[in-house]
Formats: sequence, structure tokens, C-alpha cells
Amino acid sequence: MSLSIQNLHATLEDGTEILKGVSLDVPTGQVHAIMGPNGSGKSTLSKVIAGHEGYVVTGGSVTLEGEDVLAMSIDERSRAGVFLAFQYPAEVPGVSNANFIRAALQARLPEGVEIDAVAFYKSLYERMDLLEMDRKFTGRAVNEGFSGGEKKRNEILQMMMLEPRYCILDETDSGLDIDALKIVAKGVNSMRGPDRGFLLITHYQRLLDHITPDVLHVMAGGRIVRTGGPELAQELEAHGYDFLKEAALA
Ligand code: ADP
Ligand code: MG
Repeated sequence: MSLSIQNLHATLEDGTEILKGVSLDVPTGQVHAIMGPNGSGKSTLSKVIAGHEGYVVTGGSVTLEGEDVLAMSIDERSRAGVFLAFQYPAEVPGVSNANFIRAALQARLPEGVEIDAVAFYKSLYERMDLLEMDRKFTGRAVNEGFSGGEKKRNEILQMMMLEPRYCILDETDSGLDIDALKIVAKGVNSMRGPDRGFLLITHYQRLLDHITPDVLHVMAGGRIVRTGGPELAQELEAHGYDFLKEAALA
């Protein structure tokens, strides 16, 4: 059981190549982190996996339990169990947070089966309590007027409610103060388990102080240039991405 990316190449619509052969395998039960300098293609990778417009896959594959993800619509990818928490979460004016999540869950049920409203709110409130979110957020329009930190917490709430098999978090830590970061980490850690895989994309090491990954990859120039264990994060913290320059000179 894994989300498997093999030799993935992708360009912008104008033909500029951004992903230049990315390979990585995220099995269920593991947390993989990707770090790397700005502009290395981390967000592009997450968007290509999610099926975002504006990118053209020119080679390689993305599979989920062996199924071709790139052949699926965005909706099919989501139903197949991929959840992407965006670096910049979208606002959905006029739709309350609770109704948005409820509709997403309802859409995953067989025709004629209705969500149990009592059980739904019970589980929503449990998760909001864990994320220290005020109940007033259930009635507010999705992300409208939310602060950066509130949007990120709301993304984690959606993720916890949808219980996806693979969770991709793109810079969920950026713009968060340390308390919000700890709460986001608490949400992610509460979801870790043998049946779920995570891909955490982050520019900063500090998220990894609170969520210890099983595997850490470094991305630069559209490729994974190094892979190691959690100790690699400390090395990057101490020495930054200097080794990239040394590697380029070698
Ligand atoms: P990262 O998330 O690692 O900072 P990105 O994937 O956002 O990197 O970007 C990789 C490179 O691709 C950058 O040089 C960025 O400017 C470029 N890029 C990505 N998406 C677009 C786009 N839609 N239009 C123009 N350039 C883009
Ligand atoms: Mg990015």
C-alpha cells in the first residue's frame, strides 16, 4: 500500500520544466517529509499529485495502490484517498464550514445513505476541541476572513474529518506562530497510523521538531537530491543547504 511517484516530469503550460524526474514512495504507516530551498518545485509536486490545472505531466507516473492517479479527475483522486492541504487555502464564500465538510463526507457515501447529523457534529466538535478551535467556526463561511493560522487549522480540521489514506501538507507550517504550529502537529500526530501515509512539505525544520518523519527528502532544482532519516533535519538545521552548492561544484 503506497503512494508511489516514479521519475515524474512536469512542465508549466509554456513548456518550462519544473519537475525533472522525481521519484519517491510513501507507504501507509509512514510520514515522509520534503524540505528544500524556495523554488525547488515542492508545491508543484503537490499540485501535480492533486491534479491542479496549469501543469503538464511529460513523463513518469503517480500511482495509488497501483492505480494510475494521473488518469483520475481531481474528484476521483480525492475519493481515492488523497488529501492536499494547500499552502494558500481557498475561501468558499456563502458555504458554512460545517456544511462544507458535511457535503464532502456525504458525497463519499452510497446513494440514499444520509449522514447521521448527531454523530457528525459529535465528531466535528471532538476534532475542533483537539485543534482548540472555537465552535463559532462551524457557522462561518469556509476560510472567509480567517487569519492565516485559522485557515491552516481549518485545513487540518477538514483533513481529520475526511480521514484520507494519504495526506499531503504543503507548507502548512508557514505563517503559524509556535502555539498554532503545535496544535497543527497535534492534529497530524493524532492521525498517524498503520493505514495512513503523510507527505509533509516544509521549507523550515521547525515543523519537524513536532512531527518526527520516518523519512526526509531534500528537493532542489526539480529533483530529490538526498534522502535520509529524521537526523538529516538536524544536519540541514546546522548547515542549511550548503551541500547543494558543494554537490554542484563537485
Ligand atoms: P517551492 O514550493 O519549492 O518553493 P514551486 O513548486 O512553487 O517551488 O515553484 C518551482 C518553480 O516553478 C519556481 O521557479 C516557480 O516560480 C515556478 N512556478 C511554479 N508554478 C508556476 C506558475 N504557475 N507560473 C509560473 N511559474 C511557476
Ligand atoms: Mg511551495
